[in-house]
Amino acid sequence: PGEESYDVRIGASALDSLGRRMRGVPALGQAERALVVTDSNVAPLYRDRAKESLAAAGFRTSDIVVPAGEDTKSVEVAGELWEAMAQLKLGRDCVVVALGGGVVGDLAGFAASTYMRGVTLVQAPTTLLSMVDSSVGGKTGVNLAAGKNLVGTFKQPAYVCADTGTLATLPEREWTCGCAEIAKSAVIDSDEFFFWLVDAADALAAREDGAVSEAIARSVVFKADVVAQDKTESRGVRECLNYGHTLGHAVETLAGYGTFSHGAAVAEGMRFAARLGAELVGASADFVTAQDDLLDALGLPALAWSAEPAALLDAMKRDKKARRGQVRFVLPRDVGAWELLDVDDAVILEHLDAWARSKE
Ligand code: NAD
Ligand code: ZN
Repeated sequence: PGEESYDVRIGASALDSLGRRMRGVPALGQAERALVVTDSNVAPLYRDRAKESLAAAGFRTSDIVVPAGEDTKSVEVAGELWEAMAQLKLGRDCVVVALGGGVVGDLAGFAASTYMRGVTLVQAPTTLLSMVDSSVGGKTGVNLAAGKNLVGTFKQPAYVCADTGTLATLPEREWTCGCAEIAKSAVIDSDEFFFWLVDAADALAAREDGAVSEAIARSVVFKADVVAQDKTESRGVRECLNYGHTLGHAVETLAGYGTFSHGAAVAEGMRFAARLGAELVGASADFVTAQDDLLDALGLPALAWSAEPAALLDAMKRDKKARRGQVRFVLPRDVGAWELLDVDDAVILEHLDAWARSKE
């Protein structure tokens, strides 16, 4: 472990030991002030518990509540955070605690990494997606009119506190978003993870704590492992995390952002990529079926929606992850084995046609 290693605590009341555990992190042993950044949905549910835990550990606490929703991930709101932090006279030795989903994590992480050239960040994720994905890996960011996440930094948290008890209030739509990222991780990772998840799918869908905690732990280990090999996304390894997101993002954009949840769109993208992989890298029909069944079991059915293939291709090309005008896919050969492939337009269009026809 280098200086950037950190603990991820996963547990049903982890929030109540947040302050005490933060004191055990060398960078935070002496910190005086903690700023809780949270959103308008999470604040009434969990802000007081977080602040009480911090106060009990001797932190002087403040909080800032931002409006819930993706629109909050903006340069404007980041600017408001900087100003508020300055008003509170927070110094370099303060710690920012991001209490909420990926929106709060990305925004507060961005503010923490830039205020006074960087203060300590703690992630306290409260959505399944943020527990399994966005709170680990160190990416922060805000959106521009030109696209999502176009401005951001790499900022590793000093500590991650995933209180699975907070998931009890998570709406179903947000729940399945996390499930899609868990399924993505399992397919890319290994037979071990995948077949465990197949067996645990019903328990996970029912939000049984044992299954939930283990799914989070496995996903975090998977992501941390990928990120450790490619911290700044320069070596191609990290691109596997984009599995299902190539078509997924295009579906989100074309259907109108928010029409489908991110998870529903990613699941659709995984179904599509598996079929493309069957033709291009030799994935088996059994694999395609096993993945379909898993997604069904997790509450992520195939979408009864399609769009003009040309428009979808165009949307994929505008994605910032497209290279030199070619669309790049993460294609599984099988569970635990994948390739990164630039796919020709004609091949993509042919498959998009078949995909759209399958919806008729
Ligand atoms: P989100 O933060 O918008 O949370 C979803 C909704 O759930 C919000 O309305 C929120 O207020 C509410 N909520 C949060 N916790 C709750 C709880 N415990 N009970 C009830 N309601 C709760 O969305 P998200 O899905 O967590 O995150 C999506 C964001 O994460 C996107 O902006 C995406 O770009 C980003 N992201 C970042 C990374 C990364 O590596 N940094 C990775 C994946 C996604
Ligand atoms: Zn995603």
